[in-house]
Amino acid sequence: MHHIFFTMAALIASPPSFISGGIAANSSPSAWVERFVSLPGNHFYCSVPRDFIADSFNHLSLPDLPCQREALSLILSTATGGTMPPPRLEASARVLYGLIHARFILTPRGMEAMRRKHAASDFGRCPRTLCHGESLLPTGASDVLGRGCVKGFCPRCCDLYDTPSTLDGASWGTTFPHLFTQQNIRERWGPFDHKGKFQPRVFGFRLRGPEERHY
Ligand SMILES: [Zn+2]
Repeated sequence: MHHIFFTMAALIASPPSFISGGIAANSSPSAWVERFVSLPGNHFYCSVPRDFIADSFNHLSLPDLPCQREALSLILSTATGGTMPPPRLEASARVLYGLIHARFILTPRGMEAMRRKHAASDFGRCPRTLCHGESLLPTGASDVLGRGCVKGFCPRCCDLYDTPSTLDGASWGTTFPHLFTQQNIRERWGPFDHKGKFQPRVFGFRLRGPEERHY
């Protein structure tokens, strides 16, 4: 319920930016974010700007995580290089970033960042022959942490595919690909593209569907 409230509120309007902890508004990603998204296997993530991460509105109803305040400070850190943070803190920061990321990609700025990644096929391509290599969109099977890895949604055949990634699907959530499709792809294909539907034939004759068969 809280998630639905958040999503609707974020879509209707961006609230006035409330910057906590005296951190100046900054639409660029922090040094931690730049490092994190460039790690091998993290290319499904886009860079969330510091001002979005710092805005306490975007933390509403997040689950409690270990060392959450310290993790938030780490994510917003502008320090480059130096020693690595303790593993527990780094792990908490990664989970927190994923949850904020899932919210960011539903906003106009996040949607635009993901549109550029989709155009570059950063999320992989549909393996189905009749989809002709359509670029996939990342999606979670759930909005809750720990319910499965990120999947690839094909907006052409509307099916889900496994990806090589083992990242938690909650970092993308269940809404993103469908909202993205409504805003970016429907115009290209119309309500639904049935042209790519596979039609089984024997000697050129169309086979009846399973519900029509009597053998
Ligand atoms: Zn497909």
